[in-house]
Amino acid sequence: MEITAISHAESWFQILRIDKWVYALRERLDWIDPRFLTMFANNYLIIGEKKAALIDTGIGIHSIKKAVKPLIKDKEIFVFNTHHHFDHVGNNHEWPRIYVHKFDLHRVALPEELIFLRTSDGVFSDEFLKKGGVTKPADEHYPLIGGEVFELGGIDLRVIHSPGHTPGSISISTSRKHLIAGDTIHNGSIYLPPKETLNSYSHSLNSLIEEVIREQKCTVLGGHEEPIVAQENIELLGQIVQNWQKISNEKRQKYNDFLKAHILSYPPFKFVIPD
Ligand SMILES: [Zn+2]
Ligand SMILES: [Zn+2]
Repeated sequence: MEITAISHAESWFQILRIDKWVYALRERLDWIDPRFLTMFANNYLIIGEKKAALIDTGIGIHSIKKAVKPLIKDKEIFVFNTHHHFDHVGNNHEWPRIYVHKFDLHRVALPEELIFLRTSDGVFSDEFLKKGGVTKPADEHYPLIGGEVFELGGIDLRVIHSPGHTPGSISISTSRKHLIAGDTIHNGSIYLPPKETLNSYSHSLNSLIEEVIREQKCTVLGGHEEPIVAQENIELLGQIVQNWQKISNEKRQKYNDFLKAHILSYPPFKFVIPD
């Protein structure tokens, strides 16, 4: 698949056109703090014939609305969070209403302090510093449960509850064969949930692979790093997580003080395993 870069790698949001319907708006997480072992955070914009959808609102350091507006013009837009983590909800306050799974809603509805991010010169916008480095929630939140369908004109979105990474993680499949998987499936460093919820992550991953990805032969777009996740890497991720007990015991893990987690390198992935 040919991806076209619409804006320069140097501008804050690098905009990639994935196909006729989907854009990736990505930003550099490592410019803000390299200790997350992640280069890019990806937000997705889907533009239908009548309406649009933004999936995740970014880190909140720079306005995502300014990047989205020229692309959607006057179209109505639905704004989703795939889950509550700070790198996916940072510009929620720019939109009147956020669609988020009911299990992550209480986290999204509260301001979150980002002082734990190491500030580097030029990265934090004046606007962000004026707010004191705190993410501001939107005025209104719509609780999702999974199964909801949003018609954008020429393309429909379906919400899938895929708990594990967080209790309210969602994935969004489209009628044009995309699966926007948030932090449930992506390239690079995979942040695993605590032991108690690893089974639920494994279950979500396998049902996405079996019931959506293989069956609909869809392009999987991840929440971090290079947007498209290759089919063989998705299968590998599914197998690793399913056989986690065996693999994690066999392989040597390094401890990371900042993340307070063990790191297990399993190319092309790195697993971040909380204590
Ligand atoms: Zn996350
Ligand atoms: Zn993330």
